Amino acid sequence: MQDNLKQADTSFIKEVEKRSGQHVVECYQCGNCTAGCPFNFAYDIPVSRIMRLVQLGQRETVLSCHSIWLCSSCQTCTTRCPNSIDVAKVMDVLRHMAREAGYATERNVKAFGDSFLASVKKNGRLHELGVAIGYEMRTGRIFTDIDLAPSMIGKGRLHIKPHPIHNTDQVAGIFNRFQEETHE
Ligand code: SF4
Ligand code: SF4
Repeated sequence: MQDNLKQADTSFIKEVEKRSGQHVVECYQCGNCTAGCPFNFAYDIPVSRIMRLVQLGQRETVLSCHSIWLCSSCQTCTTRCPNSIDVAKVMDVLRHMAREAGYATERNVKAFGDSFLASVKKNGRLHELGVAIGYEMRTGRIFTDIDLAPSMIGKGRLHIKPHPIHNTDQVAGIFNRFQEETHE
């Protein structure tokens, strides 16, 4: 893959390192992370290449790529890195930075994440049916997989109402504090 490299944005490198707590500049491009990544087949930029582009301060290329949204946070890259870099953490930070900068190149993945977090904030824990409805509303994919609902309800995997828990306001408070700090 040929990149049209721009002038290095050193503030991007510093921000990724600070927020992830990882020394991205120490990556020596061995490729172990990419070799083990189960989603490399779907990535537009392999994870080791993303690390290189961060080293080169290529903010826009990195934050607008699809790979950071397709990453499943499986941690394989982290466990395979001979340099003890928590690569999955870096990918997580890049996803946050992409959200903050208004990039969401995989809108359905972002919609699912937003629905998931809204459910936990509201109910204090996950309500699967609420997540499904929230996702369908955000994406317009109404009735997607609705044929699965009867069997899931029958097996007790999908509940009409959320399970009540105590102190949901405290959980919501955590979300509010995070959103105030990150402006997300
Ligand atoms: S955490 Fe993401 S980048 Fe790392 S191996 Fe898993 S899917 Fe690939
Ligand atoms: S495994 Fe570690 S050192 Fe090797 S390319 Fe990936 S991040 Fe860099």
